[in-house]
Amino acid sequence: MADRERRSAFEILCREHGLPITVQRRAVYEFIRGRQDHPTVDQVYDGVRDRIRGVSRMTVYRALNTLVDVGAVKKVSSPGPTIRYDANTKLHHHLVCMYCDKLIDYEDPALNNLPMPNTRGRGFRVSDYSIQFRGICADCRRKGEPTIDRIRGSTIDRKRTRKK
Ligand SMILES: [Zn+2]
Ligand SMILES: [Zn+2]
Repeated sequence: MADRERRSAFEILCREHGLPITVQRRAVYEFIRGRQDHPTVDQVYDGVRDRIRGVSRMTVYRALNTLVDVGAVKKVSSPGPTIRYDANTKLHHHLVCMYCDKLIDYEDPALNNLPMPNTRGRGFRVSDYSIQFRGICADCRRKGEPTIDRIRGSTIDRKRTRKK
C-alpha cells in the first residue's frame, strides 16, 4: 500500500468514527506506521516529541489509545510488562524473543483459519486472536545467546542481562 493510500485509509477511519484528525494523532499514527518493532508508548513519545511542539507523554498515550479505539492501531501483549503498539491491523502473528522482548511480525495463511474455541459456557466472546511463538531471535543467538534451556521459565536471567 502506498503511503498516501495508507494515510487516506487513516483519514477514512477517523471520519467514520467522527474523530477529528489532530496534528498529534496524525504524527503518532505516521510514526507507528513506519515502525515494524511494536514500540512502547515511551518509544512513540521519543519519536514524535521533536515533531510536535510541547507534546506530553500523556497526549501521546491518549492519541495511541484513541487510535486503538478506532481500530487504526492494535495493542500487543508482550513478554515484558509494557504494552506495545502495532499499526499492522491485519491478522498476523508474532515471533517473540524471550531474551530481548523483540516482537517480529509473522504471517502464515495456515494460521489464519484456526477453529475458535467454544467459550460460550464462560460467557466469553472471542473477537480476534494472534499467536506468539516464543524463542530466541537471530541477534541474540549471534551475540552468544542464552540457550533455550537457560531461559525457559527463568525471568531472572533475562531481567539481569537486560539492564543497560
Ligand atoms: Zn532477542
Ligand atoms: Zn505485529
